[in-house]
Amino acid sequence: MTDYFEVHERDGAARVGELRLSSPRSTPTLVDDVLEDGGSLWSQSREVPEGDESTLTVLPHRAFPGGTAPEVQESFAVEYPDVDYPSVAVVSSDHVDDHGTDAYALSNVQSVMGHGAALVEAVVGAREAIPTDTALMFSGVATPRNVALLAYAGVDLFDATAAVVKGTEGRYLTTDEAYFLEDLDELPCSCPACQQPREEFTREDCAEHNRNALEAELAIVRRRIRDGRLRDYIEGQARHDQWLTAAMRELDSQWGYLEERTPILRDAQINAATEDTLRRVEIQRFADRVTTRYRNRFDNPLVLVPCSATKPYSESQSHRQFHDVIQWRGHLVSMTSPIGVVPQELETTYPAQHYDTVVTGRWSEDEKGFVSDVLQRYLERNEYPKIIAHVPDEGYRDIVERVEKRLDLDITYTVAEHPTDDESLANLSEALSGELTYSKREREHNTVRAIADYLLGDGAGDDLFANIQTTSRYPKIQVRDSEDTQLATMVPQYGTLSFTLEGAKRWVDSDAPTKRVEIDGFVPHGSVLAPGVVDADEEIRVGDEVIVEGPKAFAIGRAEMFGREMAESTRGIACEIRHVEEK
Ligand SMILES: [Zn+2]
Repeated sequence: MTDYFEVHERDGAARVGELRLSSPRSTPTLVDDVLEDGGSLWSQSREVPEGDESTLTVLPHRAFPGGTAPEVQESFAVEYPDVDYPSVAVVSSDHVDDHGTDAYALSNVQSVMGHGAALVEAVVGAREAIPTDTALMFSGVATPRNVALLAYAGVDLFDATAAVVKGTEGRYLTTDEAYFLEDLDELPCSCPACQQPREEFTREDCAEHNRNALEAELAIVRRRIRDGRLRDYIEGQARHDQWLTAAMRELDSQWGYLEERTPILRDAQINAATEDTLRRVEIQRFADRVTTRYRNRFDNPLVLVPCSATKPYSESQSHRQFHDVIQWRGHLVSMTSPIGVVPQELETTYPAQHYDTVVTGRWSEDEKGFVSDVLQRYLERNEYPKIIAHVPDEGYRDIVERVEKRLDLDITYTVAEHPTDDESLANLSEALSGELTYSKREREHNTVRAIADYLLGDGAGDDLFANIQTTSRYPKIQVRDSEDTQLATMVPQYGTLSFTLEGAKRWVDSDAPTKRVEIDGFVPHGSVLAPGVVDADEEIRVGDEVIVEGPKAFAIGRAEMFGREMAESTRGIACEIRHVEEK
């Protein structure tokens, strides 16, 4: 159906796609050069009147040379209403339906610009109404300042109309401002249009500069999406206009929309530099899963410790010192902003070892509120015989004391001046005296169970891995059943599990919630493409382990799309197969 647009990379709601014009190009991108081409599809599209889909324009792009009379093109479209060429439907944001076109342009985008909530409502409404493998176009509104946020929200196609018009009106646009040209003694740019002497710089040059600035910003956006780091950029870029910051926060409140589109793991570091980082999906999802899925399986006291800059924490100098004292007599849980609390079994699990934060030693009220809320929920779910807080005064202790009071707990504090000074470490040892150590085996078993809980759901660790043995060395743990058949391997980079076929069968037979992809009657090798997918569980996220099954094959692999996207898409890689067997 949609042969002319394919999504290649995803970063939350933002995507890098390929628009298959005569020379293919990567989205998010400007398409007004296509608009200017006389025989183009874009210029021939028109509004779909309410309730009258028969007049929907589905016009061929390559079939007509430039200059072909519109009537000829139109008659062609009417004659071949199902013609399989790139096409765009122009629709109003309060009336979006799936018309089977490659792209959708919202006709009323002007009215939502400048209003965070209205913009988000329009984008989310449109995206939820049209298939995931179609492009969404915002015409006449993109500027160097707003285009990153628009792409982040889920818009794929733009034009330079607004930027060019503003230029001819004497407005010089940058990613942070819209200057009056006459106010600029010096041009803050070195693009080709800005190379000439200031006094010779005309409004036409200004228009060209605006377009260049827009193109450059889109190139940054595409790079950021490919790197999985657009959000870090948005948290800074949106600051340049209040309504863009409002739009970012409105999007954060659209949990379902963003969560479905956010991968459960990736290589990119999260740059925790603003208060808004606390509200991003990766952070909220970790906090949610740790407090609703994870369960502590140790009988030992809880030892709360501060996080470390080195990740995973256990490799840091301070945590090595803690460990020398604790010696597996306590269950180590690190407190950190922006993640919340990290039980030792999940210290490698994304994003627990994939973030960098600004180190000032001062906690904001937002951070304290967030971490104390997570700690409270954690302690409501997990009971310990004793709680030791080996945390410094600044921030950490305040948070622990809040939770102690709210839950009416009795917590032992062991830090004198600094967590690693001799007196503090002696206090910690004293607080743990008489406690028994747990074994390496117990620690490894509980680690794979904790990861299974985290990835698959509450109770999954016990359902799947009640009776196991582990080999190899942490964090490269191999999980085997009692007959020594390998079931899964821990993936240290992301703190996840990758299953074998035997592990996948055990997963299917267990009570743990499965993530299934139903395919047609073929035996997949390598990649499963979306057209081969019959159905997929809606809970599947990019990066999830998935059971792939059809009349001819049973396989285990990793999701490259979210579940609904696999079922809806007609192009692109749905998942990568690791092991397969024919039925
Ligand atoms: Zn310039």
